[in-house]
Amino acid sequence: MMRLIMIWLVLLGSLWAVGVERKVPILCYHRFSSGELDSMSIKTSVFEEQMAWLKSNGYSVIPLDTAIGYVTGNVKTIPAKSVVISVDDGHKSVYSDMAPIVKKYKVPVTLFIYPSAISNAAYAMTWEQLHELESTKLFHVESHTYWHPNFNHEKKKLSPEEYAKFVDKQLGGAKKKLEEKMGHEIKYLAWVFGIYDDALLVDAKKAGYSAAFTIDRRHAASSANIMAEGRYMVISKHSIKDFEHMVDGTEDRMNPSKKEIVKY
Ligand SMILES: [Zn+2]
Repeated sequence: MMRLIMIWLVLLGSLWAVGVERKVPILCYHRFSSGELDSMSIKTSVFEEQMAWLKSNGYSVIPLDTAIGYVTGNVKTIPAKSVVISVDDGHKSVYSDMAPIVKKYKVPVTLFIYPSAISNAAYAMTWEQLHELESTKLFHVESHTYWHPNFNHEKKKLSPEEYAKFVDKQLGGAKKKLEEKMGHEIKYLAWVFGIYDDALLVDAKKAGYSAAFTIDRRHAASSANIMAEGRYMVISKHSIKDFEHMVDGTEDRMNPSKKEIVKY
């Protein structure tokens, strides 16, 4: 009898371990503006409204690293209402518009950066600005490839040998460059335009990334491929109700065919 109970308990335990899906919503921003808006921008005041909403509704903004630790089972628990904030591209409005609000609300933010633009393109931040943001301990730089290419186009254009070299530069090359420039390990990658395929997921792992992120609108989850975790792109047309549905899991639970598609 005792033995039967023991077997039953072990079975229950393993069922629990398999059955519990570990999920976290990750938001993805691009640009901030107090004036003219394009499809990739969000009003700076709307971003502040979202931060205030998270605070007054009991949400905890947690670092990406903690969220991935949780999803992979290395971090045992996180607050029930947890959310991650990420920003792609390194636009200068992150420094001018977003940073003051991030400092006010003291929320951790991951910046996915492609090094070719930094201290180079007029729209991008400088390396000095990135270092300044990291010195606040609120911002942390990760990789967004080397120069933000469209992998689909390049795959069609280049020979298999050229493409392999190109992929190596965009994944491993970007990681190395960012590590040199920022002085810390680069662990994570955000797919450019949300484009990835099975081969790229393997390549990213081989290049040394621990996890990679898409713009597929779903929570990052333990059941997903760790190299293709979902994120919610937040743009100007989203209302605070839309925002609520991203972070509370309503959009995650929606039938995929009914989900809105937010693309570049
Ligand atoms: Zn991008």
